[in-house]
Amino acid sequence: MKRVTILGATGSIGLRTLEIVSSFPDEFGVAGLAARGSNVELVADLCRKYSPRAVALLDGRARDQLARLLPAPRPELLAGADGLVALARDVDADVVVSALVGGAGLLPTMAAIEAGRTMALANKETLVMAGSLMTAAAKRRHVALLPVDSEHSAVFQCLVGHNRGDVHRVLLTASGGPFREWPPEKFAGITVEDALKHPTWKMGAKITIDSATLMNKGLEIIEARWLFDVAPEKVQVIVHPQSVVHSMVEYIDGSVIAQLGVPDMGIPILYALTYPERRPTPAARLDLTRTGALTFFEPDPVKFPCLRLARAALERGGTAPVVLNAANEVAVAAFLDRRLSFVEIPALIERALDHVPHAGLTSIEQCVGVDAEARRRVQEWIDTRAGGAKQ
Ligand code: NAD
Ligand code: MG
Repeated sequence: MKRVTILGATGSIGLRTLEIVSSFPDEFGVAGLAARGSNVELVADLCRKYSPRAVALLDGRARDQLARLLPAPRPELLAGADGLVALARDVDADVVVSALVGGAGLLPTMAAIEAGRTMALANKETLVMAGSLMTAAAKRRHVALLPVDSEHSAVFQCLVGHNRGDVHRVLLTASGGPFREWPPEKFAGITVEDALKHPTWKMGAKITIDSATLMNKGLEIIEARWLFDVAPEKVQVIVHPQSVVHSMVEYIDGSVIAQLGVPDMGIPILYALTYPERRPTPAARLDLTRTGALTFFEPDPVKFPCLRLARAALERGGTAPVVLNAANEVAVAAFLDRRLSFVEIPALIERALDHVPHAGLTSIEQCVGVDAEARRRVQEWIDTRAGGAKQ
């Protein structure tokens, strides 16, 4: 039986992972669960259903509430950022699903890698921030970083059995988000509700906004660079609104290998949990005779400047992607809080890239420091601009 620890258990990826664990009761058990703790009732339900050995909640009061909800014998209960790190590092697990959202996943994910645990990686922001340090640690500890992100799972599958030296290009597909066909003059009036309507995938709020600005694809270019050790200029983004072709790899002889499927995160999650094996699932099947036309477009660089900003940060290297990610997280949170307009998101990220001092990336501690400084500055800009009033 594989013991699975899930960082971000109450989120979209975390809950889907737990559904998969339920579908294969002889194959998987739950070792540890971690979450922020904003929904303690849900965490208590998950504990009753999956009997984890340990649970870590960021919020200490939520941990105390959980203790009251769960009579003994209960799982070991940990709290705070240190509690999440301890869970990832100390609770024995065969695979750790890294599915916290944003930079909050950095230290627990690094702790799990340093402990030598196989990683199923959904939390792309951690790779964006510290890809060089994470991949070096994974190499040193002989840890597999298995992609959960659907595009990267696709690329991973397209690379199996081929020589890395024969790769000509990685073709990352993007749905294009809800504003693909909107004229640029309507962008200033985009509301939170408009941006949360993703055409093909149902996901957490932050990644849904990232998909609307195309920053998600920018982050995924950086994610691909580190997961597959591929030069940034070899990663091309192609808009494919049907989300059927999950990504492709083009080889030097002109042959293009693609991975297709219905848009269901259960498929890449299961593959990461069972790799290198596959399991039969009751998941909906792809029927190409019913999908209609599959179309492909160039992304629009004017409507979606986040793609250019992500590439610029990757090219610059060092701490630039840390700043990109931090600025994006703060800007997206402010947009969701209706304190920032949609078009101000890339503007703030660009300002952060221009103004936060740049350096080479040498340690996780430095990464955490730069992340905090970038967040502080962007938050200050938001708070002081036009009185920082809600719109
Ligand atoms: P989500 O918002 O649904 O869930 C996030 C989880 O992280 C929750 O369990 C929440 O409690 C926890 N969390 C949030 N902030 C935290 C903090 N500060 N400290 C501790 N825990 C915290 O997010 P999601 O959509 O499941 O995405 C998770 C990650 O997977 C993201 O990095 C996202 O980019 C990536 N991803 C998601 C999808 C998807 O389909 N949802 C697809 C590909 C990649
Ligand atoms: Mg993706």
